[in-house]
Amino acid sequence: MQPEAMVDVQEIEQQRLRHRLTPPPPDECVRILRDRYGPEALICTTCGTLLASEAKSYAGSNLTDEERLAYTCGERRWEAAGAARIKMLRAENLRRNMSLVAGISAARHRPTRARVERPQSSFYLSGTSSTVFRDGRAHRSGRPRTSSSAKRLKSRERSRAYRERQKEASMPRAVKQ
Ligand SMILES: [Zn+2]
Repeated sequence: MQPEAMVDVQEIEQQRLRHRLTPPPPDECVRILRDRYGPEALICTTCGTLLASEAKSYAGSNLTDEERLAYTCGERRWEAAGAARIKMLRAENLRRNMSLVAGISAARHRPTRARVERPQSSFYLSGTSSTVFRDGRAHRSGRPRTSSSAKRLKSRERSRAYRERQKEASMPRAVKQ
């Protein structure tokens, strides 16, 4: 511990209160706390919070010197894990949406071709189809689509297919308005 670098704890606390909306950068907190409490202190290197000022406080946790000096508190580790999970879910959504869109455009082309000779009651059908296609943004890069919109697409496609099957069954050649 270096006495000349010592900072009053209350001063740190006051600074943190004063800057609650824009707290001092964590590195700065870590530096101040490290100067104040020395190498034995347990400080979160991510959020700059003092977790323990003395070695005896964390003696039971079997931290190595290296682990202690690079310690990240539970909350921050949880946040990091959460961020990783969200990233994974987004990637998963993107993959699912891509295959969904591929499935929709495949499914869209098959019945549409068969239906070309049918009377254009298909205003509604093609309207729906093109909407699905446009919303699907096939082969376009960018922000991953949300799962709710994917669900919407899928259920829209499903009910369209269902309506078509119903029409097919009830009136194969008739014009339906
Ligand atoms: Zn922390």
